[in-house]
Amino acid sequence: MEEMVAQIGFVGLGNMGAPMARNLVKAGHGVTVFDLSAEAMGRVEGARPAASAAEAAAGADFVLTMLPAGRHVREAWLGAGGMAAAARPDAILLDCSTIDVATAREVAAATGRVFLDAPVSGGVMGAEAGTLTFMAGGPDEGFARAEPILRAMGRTVVHCGEAGAGQAAKACNNMLLAISMIGTCEAFVLAEKLGLSHEALFEVASKSSGQCWSLTTYCPVPGPVPGSPANRDYKPGFAAALMVKDLGLAQQAAGETGAATPMGARALELYRRFVEEGGAEADFSGIIRMLRAEAPTA
Ligand code: NAD
Repeated sequence: MEEMVAQIGFVGLGNMGAPMARNLVKAGHGVTVFDLSAEAMGRVEGARPAASAAEAAAGADFVLTMLPAGRHVREAWLGAGGMAAAARPDAILLDCSTIDVATAREVAAATGRVFLDAPVSGGVMGAEAGTLTFMAGGPDEGFARAEPILRAMGRTVVHCGEAGAGQAAKACNNMLLAISMIGTCEAFVLAEKLGLSHEALFEVASKSSGQCWSLTTYCPVPGPVPGSPANRDYKPGFAAALMVKDLGLAQQAAGETGAATPMGARALELYRRFVEEGGAEADFSGIIRMLRAEAPTA
């Protein structure tokens, strides 16, 4: 990939945005940052602080947002003093937040610019290590220009299709992940009741048709996969509260498109309950504890 030094505006310096922006600085880009929180503004050494989101956007070759939810993204790009109006007409605009597909498409269209949705997976550790996966939606030419910038923050960058396709990929992937994690947990809970050891189930299922990432990389019981959160008392990892958010976005998309996702709906119910019962900050694989305690008919 050709070396390129760009001017980048970056708005939203939270748990994910700050390390992502730091990696852009590290790659040699000129980075101008903004966050509503004064404390967050100090998180990116080597970046130039801006007085507003619009100021961060003005003059940049690429403008990125990493914000909590769709309403923040809409407001930041399209609201009064919005970034879309402030950005150069030829700038590439990117939103890396996880938001609903409908808002992603609406904001992309309303900016009237080259706009990509580019949500990530890989969590805070991936953001810090620069190993995130980006799934992008938007025009081919915009993707081609943005790819080297995304590669400074991630290892895998996939162009999924037109506007909204990145958010669609994220919603589908994380719904599948939640369902497979619950299935994996249920298999271990049943094995425990049957007197089958965790090791024996792992040995068989990891090499047969039950094999999946939730089992072989993120095993929800301690032992078989030493690096999984189960070995550190379910310290995240990927916090259950974030899984509830992503499952909610998947259910919203299913409702809007008329897709039947009964397992996705049930996964959302179960994860909501896990969060309400105190699991919000735990890794999402910790739901095995709730399933162990579940009444047999639940
Ligand atoms: P966070 O809450 O830590 O950070 C969000 C930041 O945005 C905060 O610093 C907040 O002050 C700032 N902000 C909010 N509105 C703003 C505005 N209008 N202008 C400027 N700044 C504003 O959130 P996070 O964990 O960094 O997550 C960001 C996004 O990434 C979310 O959409 C989340 O779902 C997604 N995501 C998070 C993870 C994770 O593990 N944390 C993993 C994958 C994706």
